Amino acid sequence: MREDYLLEEVEILPLYNIMLSKQRDGWRLVQICATAFEGYNEVIYSVAKGYTFENYKVKVPIDMEINSISDFYPSAMLFENEMSELFGVKVKSINVDYHNKFYRIAKETPFKKEIKITKAEDEPESGSPSGNMIVNDMSKCILCGLCMRQCPVQAIEVDRKETKTWKINRDTCIQCGACIDACRKFKALSFGDDGQTGIVTYTKEG
Ligand code: SF4
Ligand code: SF4
Repeated sequence: MREDYLLEEVEILPLYNIMLSKQRDGWRLVQICATAFEGYNEVIYSVAKGYTFENYKVKVPIDMEINSISDFYPSAMLFENEMSELFGVKVKSINVDYHNKFYRIAKETPFKKEIKITKAEDEPESGSPSGNMIVNDMSKCILCGLCMRQCPVQAIEVDRKETKTWKINRDTCIQCGACIDACRKFKALSFGDDGQTGIVTYTKEG
């Protein structure tokens, strides 16, 4: 007997339709599991058919709402109430919503990890202007890509080999600050305002 196992990271928007098509195709819901990271929760939806398992992972920024899948997977409401109450994942339209009274715990969302935002004004040595855009001091950036991997909405693109560029999509960015936290060691990123919108490209000189 052989078990197949898939783990795929997907965007938040298509997740609902992916799960709906799995349900219609006869897959059963195995679990929904949340893990807290600073500024976002990683949520894995697991389904199975026969001995084949598939897992779909989404990164859900704190304060972003996701759709419940309990309208077609009724048992999902158990997992969704749990991740709402313990991790602070905001789930819309759960078929039986306990409104964070599922466990009746004393501490609100005990596993939720708020982002520790390092505002530009908290770092006077950086000299960055105040503002709510993510700006990059390329003299400090080593193009390691850590920020890109932590961004929950894929707003950052780093090309270390070819163009030596760091790009940010300001229309996609939700100002969660996870990239600043990821770059804590190099301190290249901060909140500021360089007056540019849309996709902004920073190039590493030299
Ligand atoms: S901004 Fe920081 S984390 Fe991102 S690529 Fe540059 S050095 Fe790495
Ligand atoms: S680029 Fe924007 S959305 Fe992405 S981690 Fe940084 S602040 Fe958050």
